[in-house]
Amino acid sequence: MARIVMKFGGTSVADVDRINAVARRVKAEVDRGNEVAVVVSAMAGTTNQLVEWTRAISRLHDAREYDVVVSAGEQVTSGLLALALQELGVPARSWLGWQIPVHTDDVHGKARINGIGTDEIEKRFAQGQVAVVAGFQGLGGDNRITTLGRGGSDTSAVALAAALKADRCDIFTDVDGVYTTDPRIVAKARKLDKITYEEMLEMASLGAKVLQIRSVEMAMKHRVRLQVLSSFVDQPGTLVVDEDEIVEQELVSGIAYSRDEAKITLTGVPDRPGVAAAIFGPLAEASMNVDMIVQNVSEGGGTTDLTFTVAKSDLDRAIKVLEERRDRLGYRALVPDSDVVKVSVIGVGMRSHAGVAQRMFSALAEKGINIQVISTSEIKVSVLIAEEYTELAVRSLHTAYGLDAA
Ligand code: ADP
Ligand code: ASP
Ligand code: MG
Repeated sequence: MARIVMKFGGTSVADVDRINAVARRVKAEVDRGNEVAVVVSAMAGTTNQLVEWTRAISRLHDAREYDVVVSAGEQVTSGLLALALQELGVPARSWLGWQIPVHTDDVHGKARINGIGTDEIEKRFAQGQVAVVAGFQGLGGDNRITTLGRGGSDTSAVALAAALKADRCDIFTDVDGVYTTDPRIVAKARKLDKITYEEMLEMASLGAKVLQIRSVEMAMKHRVRLQVLSSFVDQPGTLVVDEDEIVEQELVSGIAYSRDEAKITLTGVPDRPGVAAAIFGPLAEASMNVDMIVQNVSEGGGTTDLTFTVAKSDLDRAIKVLEERRDRLGYRALVPDSDVVKVSVIGVGMRSHAGVAQRMFSALAEKGINIQVISTSEIKVSVLIAEEYTELAVRSLHTAYGLDAA
């Protein structure tokens, strides 16, 4: 007997037929004698619709009410899947975040899980019951519903797998595994049988939506055996594993892109100590992450230009924070640009090989694509370019690093 957490994403529960298909898949695991907890997302498109309604009413919305609204989609699918399982004769019960409870901090809209109570689910397992858990939601320290950030059901699933000490956490989605790059934009993308936690973490952080970043962080920390596989075909997917489980390591294992970034340039910033702290401090206090940063050296004039990126969803708030402090910061102008994309190449092989970044720059130059900002770490190189070149850049890099499927 094994203990398994199965997570089904939005397209896998998009309508009643698919929910019934998911129920049959869950039943098959139950029939094998396994204990099963299922985590579900909202039906495809539902969360987007809920977010849109929130924004339509209040652009700089109150995050507590945003969470009340956007968490609603998962309540529907958890109840429906429990019913579908019952119809198949499988004892099942739905669970909302607060009922389990999934404890989180109270950073509404992107809360972090602090702990999960498992007593009740363990008790129900002992009675042969399947737990159907609404993903994406939790209970904040302020006793209100929180959500875990877009794509957060992955994290709900991995956190639950860690808390329940599950043997496996299977993430069922609309692709049959993790690919060298998004298979929706590069037809020659290759499916990987295995990928390291570290590379998966970078891929996710850099925009590969297939797993939410925190789910990978958590799997890595708690050594959860994580698999990404198709909910439509019955075949093995991609295993996320330790580096020593991978025999032949490629130089570059994947390419990711993120359209979720927006660029802000502050021109005429006084070039003196403390300025960066004065700019980035208030953004951090407002829970906004700044990603890429470039600062030009001033040419003796005492002022400089500072360019950085924030999440697109934070752009309005970031502008507000910076404009409120304009007098104190003393910059000349604030120039926002949301027509940008961050493209990154990732691979643990980079640690021991030089020239990876150079190959990227030449491949982009050959296509006439201008690089606006660059950032690097031990196992990745990222560039910010104009959004219109997304596909062209990703495809060219995929070929340049020899990743194309035969
Ligand atoms: P779900 O609703 O099941 O959570 P998501 O849309 O969040 O599904 O994630 C699956 C999607 O991730 C795929 O449809 C694919 O377009 C995208 N994706 C981006 N990068 C990759 C990659 N490297 N490998 C596989 N899928 C990727
Ligand atoms: N429904 C949520 C979203 O669309 C969570 C998830 O699907 O993982 O972001
Ligand atoms: Mg997802």
